[in-house]
Amino acid sequence: MTTTNPLGVHALVWVGDTSPASVETAVARTKAAGFDLLEISLHDSVNLDVPAARTQLEEAGVAVACSRGLAFDADVSSDDPGTVARGEKLLQQSLAITGDLGGTHFTGALYSALGKYGAPLTQAGRRNIVSVLQGLAKEAQGRGMTLGLEICNRYETNVINTAADALRLADDIGEDNVLIHLDTYHMNIEEDDLVRPVHLVGDRLGYVHIGENHRGYLGSGHLDFTSFFHALADISYTGPITFESFSSAVVARGLSNDLAIWRNLWDDGEDLATHARRFIANGLAAAAPRAAA
Ligand code: MN
Repeated sequence: MTTTNPLGVHALVWVGDTSPASVETAVARTKAAGFDLLEISLHDSVNLDVPAARTQLEEAGVAVACSRGLAFDADVSSDDPGTVARGEKLLQQSLAITGDLGGTHFTGALYSALGKYGAPLTQAGRRNIVSVLQGLAKEAQGRGMTLGLEICNRYETNVINTAADALRLADDIGEDNVLIHLDTYHMNIEEDDLVRPVHLVGDRLGYVHIGENHRGYLGSGHLDFTSFFHALADISYTGPITFESFSSAVVARGLSNDLAIWRNLWDDGEDLATHARRFIANGLAAAAPRAAA
């Protein structure tokens, strides 16, 4: 079943690192499972052979998007200028890698570390985020790329936990290529439902993560995906929809701990992803507007 939206899968469904052999495996399995796009987390970018990965992606006809969070010692939401500068450098390097891979979407927690903060965001920290992301957005604009602000739950950031928070931050950054990234896993924790945030964001939605409440098989938890797919249809969303799922069966050094992946939700990534591809395509098809009989 074909869809209007490019359908993606997070590389951590397949492999825990981005060594050349792992990227080759991830690209091949992404294609075999019928996805259009592979999302690569750049937390492991020191091991990524960018030209080789680009060739593998192009030869397979698989598109790419990149995501990341920052780190507590390289964090643009900090009050400390040195920490902010390290965060800014990480963002600039990651944007360049995304572009060099052939990607147009660079998204994630681009505004803070991924982890539990012990205090609210400060005003100075917020000003630092706005200033750094204004510059990064201009760089991205020059390369025909968009930035996504992924809204994460309170245990993973203190910057933006809701769609309303994210829209205020994007307004303050004030660049047209800074878009909102909704993730059903985080929405389940922070939003009133899975519909109103989609309507609120509307045509500023640029990227979507589909994940269950426990990050396992779609449909095995309690999330109301029917309503979510209807809401995406309401706003005529045509951007990428990427399946995100994590299990202790595939471990990425650093990222798995940042995301608190302690449980085994699945062992067979191929079965999981094939099921997810079908689940998302069916949900979108059922929600698509159609003429009254
Ligand atoms: Mn996500």
